[in-house]
Amino acid sequence: MSQQRPFVVGVTGGIGSGKTTVCREFQKLGAPMVDTDQVAREVVAPGTPGLAAVVDAFGPEVLMADGQLDRRRVRQLVFATPDLRLRLEAILHPLIRQATDAQVAAAGYPYCLVCIPLLVERGGGNRVDRVLVIDCPPEVQTARVMVRDELTAPEVAAIMRSQASREDRLAAAHDVLENSGDIATLRPQIAALHARYLQLADEVTR
Ligand code: ADP
Repeated sequence: MSQQRPFVVGVTGGIGSGKTTVCREFQKLGAPMVDTDQVAREVVAPGTPGLAAVVDAFGPEVLMADGQLDRRRVRQLVFATPDLRLRLEAILHPLIRQATDAQVAAAGYPYCLVCIPLLVERGGGNRVDRVLVIDCPPEVQTARVMVRDELTAPEVAAIMRSQASREDRLAAAHDVLENSGDIATLRPQIAALHARYLQLADEVTR
């Protein structure tokens, strides 16, 4: 008998909204989480077919001396040439999707969180059973990212402009966690969502 695929909750939000922080709280309650940013790094680790394909397309100049992919160099190349971005995405997206699906299937829990920063931008809503948006006023987002990533306010603003608007993201949400205060104030809401996701997972497998 094949094992049932877990109920998938896509977690999204703008940069610095608190996706990682909130997911960690769910994990403390026992929920598994797949971080697609992490998966994106795994599929181009040294020795992977993903890295070989990227080097084929971009040349050995995208490799660092230690054999790791030079992500900064790749970012510069795709920024300068939009066609290269499409090529890179054509290589990486199927690999990321496959590896994510495999990790979700192996999670061994009724539901699984999948953190997808650009879920709304990429129209990924159809690949998840439910969308949880971590919401935060732009001023709070900016202040947190300036500290975390040592960026200036204009640098953070440029990243935020390249992402979906707060309104578009909220429009795609089934559930919203407002993360502008202390994380402790969110814990009861996180616990309630955790219970709800277990219940929803139970309903779909019945
Ligand atoms: P994301 O994964 O959405 O980019 P993070 O979870 O990394 O966001 O949060 C961005 C930064 O803000 C991190 O340094 C994190 O520790 C901090 N942070 C997140 N939520 C809170 C909160 N409720 N109170 C204080 N700091 C927070």
